[in-house]
Amino acid sequence: MSIATNNIAFNVEEIRKDFPILNREVNGYPLVYLDNAATSQTPKQVMDAIVDYYSNYNANIHRGVHSLSQEATDKYEAARIKIQQHFNAEKSHEIIFTAGTTHGINLVANGFASILKKGDEILVSALEHHSNIVPWQMLCEKTGAILKVIPMNEQGELIYESFEELLSEKTKMVFLNHVSNALGTINPIKKIIDKAHEKGAAVLIDGAQAAPHIKADVQALDVDFYVVSAHKMCGPTGVGVLYGKEEWLNKLPPYQGGGEMIATVSFEKTTYAGLPHKFEAGTPNICGGIAFGAALDYMNAIGFEAIARYEDELLDYATLKLQEIEGMKLYGTSREKTAVISFNIEGLHPYDIGTLVDKMGIAVRTGHHCAQPIMDFYKIPGTVRASFSFYNSKEEIDRFIEAVKKAKSMLS
Ligand code: PLP
Repeated sequence: MSIATNNIAFNVEEIRKDFPILNREVNGYPLVYLDNAATSQTPKQVMDAIVDYYSNYNANIHRGVHSLSQEATDKYEAARIKIQQHFNAEKSHEIIFTAGTTHGINLVANGFASILKKGDEILVSALEHHSNIVPWQMLCEKTGAILKVIPMNEQGELIYESFEELLSEKTKMVFLNHVSNALGTINPIKKIIDKAHEKGAAVLIDGAQAAPHIKADVQALDVDFYVVSAHKMCGPTGVGVLYGKEEWLNKLPPYQGGGEMIATVSFEKTTYAGLPHKFEAGTPNICGGIAFGAALDYMNAIGFEAIARYEDELLDYATLKLQEIEGMKLYGTSREKTAVISFNIEGLHPYDIGTLVDKMGIAVRTGHHCAQPIMDFYKIPGTVRASFSFYNSKEEIDRFIEAVKKAKSMLS
């Protein structure tokens, strides 16, 4: 055990053995990977699922009578059911495979073009990733709907009272993230969903950053849409899911046309397939979907509560150590947050800090983190962001802190 932790069941040294990449060196130092909010690393159990697919049953799904196609179809659909169970969706056809969170949001925004009218209002939070802003701006351009912004406070939290003031009978939709990628703030989504529903507005939650840490129960949340990406939670890139309530998915038109999403095609009239296929045009990322299922198996075997407890300990430890550095400014100081630390050091550019710590083998992210409105709020060009995962150790945080101190002394 590498951390003095109350969480005695959590054996990080054992877990680290599942991640081959953690053994590599970068710039002559053992890698310390603290860019988990951008993408997580992949355990060998997930790699094995990928190799197994290509070694043993690579075939196109749903259309073939041959055995290989049937096997691939069964495994792909079994992954859908695993994902359904993980998020506690009522029906497996409420789980739509996508290329990731961005795709899921665009799918819903595109569908709402046929629902919204000029003058309707939609609410976005000030804490969003660009992928939960731009598709809605495009929707407003198409429909004449009005985008309104729920403001944030200095701690990086949404101002709930402002949300209540903005919400009205005109509000048709509210969309926000469960967890902010730039700051780690956990938003009070249940409260927001319930309030929005009182006014008849639908709610889409961007779960990209929550899903690696919090097991969302879409029925308990009563959320209309919930979107995630597999690559943030030990799965591969280019695959994710959109959960949508059946009644909403039935109301939305298809996003893309092509094979798989049709019932019948003729030049006179085409009819669409039922859910979930109506939204899954073309050959999907079959291997990716199956590997996503394997990633959920892996994380669930460790347990999301254990993961969150351990990551909180890493967060507290790193926060205390960073605060000891003179000139340190932390952004996003909500008490409700995941293991993300965004910071700057007085007088230094985040990019310079990121570049120097990389020379010491430490991977952090610098910049606006695809959340420029948050940077504008703080009047900064960007931050250094360290984001921790359950496979990070306390020793790695010590190395990160030492590297930041060294970078500071080199740049000052
Ligand atoms: N939303 C949030 C909160 C994110 O952090 C990200 C990725 O960083 C996205 C959306 C976009 O995810 P993807 O690039 O996997 O579509």
